[in-house]
Amino acid sequence: MKQFTHIAETADYLEIQREKDLMIGFVPTMGALHEGHLALIKRSLQENDITVCSIFVNPIQFNNNNDLANYPRTLSQDLKMLESCGCDVVFFPDTAEMYPDGETISFGLNFGTLDKVLEGQFRPGHFNGVAIVVKKLFDIVQPTHAYFGKKDFQQLAIIKHMVYAMGIPVEIIPCETIREVDGLAMSSRNTRLSPAERKLASGIYQTLLNVREKIGKTPVPELKEWAVKKIEENDGFRVEYFEIVDQESLMPMEDWTSRDRAVALVAVFVGDVRLIDNIELFS
Ligand code: AMP
Repeated sequence: MKQFTHIAETADYLEIQREKDLMIGFVPTMGALHEGHLALIKRSLQENDITVCSIFVNPIQFNNNNDLANYPRTLSQDLKMLESCGCDVVFFPDTAEMYPDGETISFGLNFGTLDKVLEGQFRPGHFNGVAIVVKKLFDIVQPTHAYFGKKDFQQLAIIKHMVYAMGIPVEIIPCETIREVDGLAMSSRNTRLSPAERKLASGIYQTLLNVREKIGKTPVPELKEWAVKKIEENDGFRVEYFEIVDQESLMPMEDWTSRDRAVALVAVFVGDVRLIDNIELFS
């Protein structure tokens, strides 16, 4: 596995591969890798000649310094995991390499309502930071295919919009959310839960499954209220939002008229750890 920390050496190496007409699959991550990330890597390995993974904890997408400081960093373990699953290239730059002029840049692209709803209401600037880093990484790697998890449903919508609006020549491949045996969506942040919190956290997905059973039967506002109450029954759990939205516009639904396009998304504070999850209600 090739390991790079500098932009120029990464770009040069991949330039040579591109000249051989190879398909390049790309999986951007923030490290603290788990089976959810590895599923993306494995899919890329199957569908491309070369798979590139990036590991970069992107400071400008954190709107909370505490969250940034506490974000798990497990680089040597990550490198071992990538090596053993057959990843070809890993790029792990430091902050100065990615943001040599400081971190206060903003993205000119208009995301319409996509970055204003859901996470956007509670994490101002978050998607601006995500879009900037992903665009920079796309410019360096110039992948033919890039793999993103549906776990970050809104992020996927933002990336798809950016690629379409800017005409970036990459195919975005959405990948299913990988879950622990009890249903909790795998997340690097799960390691920050106490054993008691970790046990209760499976209730988040169980509630999403319950919501899916109730579509069309319970009115949308009532169902949202029910779901919030159910999750908050767990000690120390506080729901930041629970929304049922259109899968493309991400605009909240008031009724079930367009239920075949509905997705339920939730953000929950478990103590000071913020978890997100979602479920497609139409499947
Ligand atoms: P992160 O390191 O959290 O920025 O995630 C890097 C990529 O892995 C993103 O495309 C995420 O959506 C994806 N990802 C994270 N957790 C999961 C999961 N449990 N299942 C599938 N994809 C995931």
